[in-house]
Amino acid sequence: MRNKRLMGVLLSCLMVSIPMAGCASEIESILGESWGVPGGLALACLRDDAYRELVIEIDHAPGYNPESSTVSLLKERLGQVCDKPDGIRIELNEMNFAETTTWTANTVREVAHETMDAPPQTSVLRWHVIMPEGKYSDDSVLGVAVDASTIALFSDSIDDATSIFNPRISAEDIENSVMVHEFGHLLGLVNLVYTSPADHEDSEHPGHSNNEDSVMYWAVETVTISAWFSGDLPTVFDQDDLDDLAGMKSGELTTTDQLWRP
Ligand SMILES: [Zn+2]
Repeated sequence: MRNKRLMGVLLSCLMVSIPMAGCASEIESILGESWGVPGGLALACLRDDAYRELVIEIDHAPGYNPESSTVSLLKERLGQVCDKPDGIRIELNEMNFAETTTWTANTVREVAHETMDAPPQTSVLRWHVIMPEGKYSDDSVLGVAVDASTIALFSDSIDDATSIFNPRISAEDIENSVMVHEFGHLLGLVNLVYTSPADHEDSEHPGHSNNEDSVMYWAVETVTISAWFSGDLPTVFDQDDLDDLAGMKSGELTTTDQLWRP
C-alpha cells in the first residue's frame, strides 16, 4: 500500500518536470524525511543570521567535472544575493555513481543524499550538485532541482543541446547558464515559495521567468535551448528576480516552506 502510494506520487511528479516543489513535499511526508522543497533554504542562504558560510559540494563522475567558468560564475552570482560574511566555498569531488543511465527525481534524491559529505544544515549551509553520467528520464531536461539543497546537471544532455544551427552557443555556455538557473530554483525563483508582486512568471512554464534576459527563463534548462536564443545565453538574475530575492530576505514578501527562519 505504502509503495503503491509512493509510486503514484512519483509518476505524477515525472509528468511535470520542473519545478517539483509540490511533488517533493508529498514524497517527504510519505518517507518521513525533511529535505524540503526547492526554495526551502532560500532564507538560510539570503540571510546571515544562522549560516555565515555557504559550501557548494559538487560531486561529478570521472570526466564530468564542471568547467572552471561555471564554478566561478556560480560563486559570483550567489555572492551577489546571499549574505555570507565567511564566504562561499566550492568543494569538487570525483565519484562513481550507482546510476549511470537513466535518472528520475527520486534516484537523484536517493543517490545525492547518500553521497553528500555532510547534512545541509550544520554550522554551515551546504548545497549539493551531482554531475553524473546518463540522462534524466525526460531527456529534454538538462538540470533539475529536486529538494531544498539538491541539484543534478546532466552533461550528456548538455552536450546534446549544442546545435549546428547555433554554433555560437557552446556546451560550456549552456552549462554556465543551467548551473545558475538550478541554483535560482534553490533560492525559490520564480514564485516557488513566495508570490512576486511583478508579473514575471511564465504562465505556460510555472516556476520560470517570462524574460529571456533572465537566467530563470524557462527555455534555459531544456535541450532545445540553442533554438530559443539568437545571441548569448542569459547568465544573470534580472531585476524582477533580484527584487523578489530582496523582498524575501527583508521579510517584505511572505515566504512558505522554509526549513530555517530568522
Ligand atoms: Zn527551471
